[in-house]
Amino acid sequence: MRSAGISSKFKVQSSKPQLKAQKLKIGVLDIQGSVEEHAAALKKCGAKVLFVKNTDDLARVNGLIIPGGESTHLSKMLETNGLFDALKKRICSGMLVFGTCAGAILLAKKIVGDKKVKSLGAIDIEIERNAYGRQLDSFEADLQSPALGKWLFHAVFIRAPKILRVGNDVRVLARHGKEIVFAREKNILVSTFHPELSSDLRAHKYFIEMAALAQ
Ligand code: GLN
Repeated sequence: MRSAGISSKFKVQSSKPQLKAQKLKIGVLDIQGSVEEHAAALKKCGAKVLFVKNTDDLARVNGLIIPGGESTHLSKMLETNGLFDALKKRICSGMLVFGTCAGAILLAKKIVGDKKVKSLGAIDIEIERNAYGRQLDSFEADLQSPALGKWLFHAVFIRAPKILRVGNDVRVLARHGKEIVFAREKNILVSTFHPELSSDLRAHKYFIEMAALAQ
């Protein structure tokens, strides 16, 4: 696990994030994909949820989830509605962001072997789209992630990407076999699985805690 260079502002400590979590407005990028499922999970964790469709919505949130879906479509839509630049700017200035599956692709510094998706270049990872194969090769797996606690996390992978390389400042939070499936660099969290599709709320709680501690 790598931890060099993570500023203390972004370290998850065991303070009282529940108190702060109630005041947080967490956005869910509302373009496509499992938007409702993420919103439901966040609400169960006690966060206020805002559906982010445009730059005005984005200006109101303390953190943002970019759901899975189709990264080609998501990246096109981000450019069309002016969110691409606004999002990039907010992430650079420290806004907490959690990209799941296609969301992780959009946040990656480099997308290997694909020029269709314009990524935000926010987290120092190289990622390959659809790297496990086709829709039929989607699968579920139990993951060990000390960041989420000692119980296994049941994860759903749907036409998932593979993270091929991570930079020195990226912390690996979980692997499936040898593949990195959950990682974090400062204010940016990514998973190649869909945490919103299992009933386990720990990945959302982890993200809310990051947002709470960054206030
Ligand atoms: N295969 C999709 C893509 O490349 C990602 C799939 C997902 O988000 N479940 O964008």
